[in-house]
Amino acid sequence: MAGTLLHSENPMPRSESKGQEKDILKLIPPPKVPPTLTSRRIGIHTSTAGGVETAAERAYRLGCNTFQVFSSSPRQWRPFPLAPGQCATMRELRAKYDLRPLVIHANYLINVAGVNAEFHRKSIEAFHAEVERGLALGAEYVVLHPGSWRGGSREEGLQRAAEAIGEASQGLDLAGGGLTILIENTAGAEFSLGGSFEQVAELVERLRAIIPVAACIDTCHTHVAGYELATAEGYEETMRKLDATVGLKNVPVWHCNDAKAECGSKLDRHENIGQGTIGTRAFRLLLNDPRTAHAAFIAETPIDEPLDDQRNVNALKSVVKDPARP
Ligand SMILES: [Zn+2]
Ligand SMILES: [Zn+2]
Repeated sequence: MAGTLLHSENPMPRSESKGQEKDILKLIPPPKVPPTLTSRRIGIHTSTAGGVETAAERAYRLGCNTFQVFSSSPRQWRPFPLAPGQCATMRELRAKYDLRPLVIHANYLINVAGVNAEFHRKSIEAFHAEVERGLALGAEYVVLHPGSWRGGSREEGLQRAAEAIGEASQGLDLAGGGLTILIENTAGAEFSLGGSFEQVAELVERLRAIIPVAACIDTCHTHVAGYELATAEGYEETMRKLDATVGLKNVPVWHCNDAKAECGSKLDRHENIGQGTIGTRAFRLLLNDPRTAHAAFIAETPIDEPLDDQRNVNALKSVVKDPARP
């Protein structure tokens, strides 16, 4: 079987499919004054059409101060070559616009927990290349889904995932490059690892001696996996569970997505902020929670209509309660 897609949404603009232009670079000119920012780091998964470094300009025009990209095609094994000039431009633009952290989302085909030997080998090689590109681009984080243990047991899957990530990182100086691997929680469908905070915590624990590692928590995955986020009590209880397992200090990146499906449905469909089953309240609580002050918040919301990306960034920024500035 070819790759198990653990992520079903497509956060990339599909300009061709509907005949509508959705690329922010073509929709709005460079702003004359820098966009208004909040005290929180807020961004969105950004298109790399035209080269990975072009995402920095898009993120700036969208009003972000952090962003996420794919460093190569997310659904192909063969990576696009990354030229030194592209890496230099990325670093220059990030410095110019104060865009940090840079988060790279690993290829969706990678399954480090899988039982198929050939596919597992390809996954290790592909993840090695993800880390290599992350270091070349000067990224702070590479986010990885822990994979699917279909065909084996969950315990074996966890073991295989930990070994594979360790092997993929061999010979690469992550600590020296300031790069941390983030294990993302998942919607918890059938054989996918990471549907519970305990599983994420366990994988992070196993990797801690080998590489710089922490967690990325996705609000949509959390909610559909069965952790209530829609109510204030649910939010507190979910945060308590997360803190008791992974630890809130070990979550430097949040994926902020509303959900199309119900809590506990295990159905991973991202919705625009405030328009799904989670609702605006949870994002307001999360983005004003002193326990998450160190984290970056990145939307991976669909772009169905032009400027949906900008609207979602603004929706996240609008809930941050900052004291009035002079
Ligand atoms: Zn998802
Ligand atoms: Zn996510």
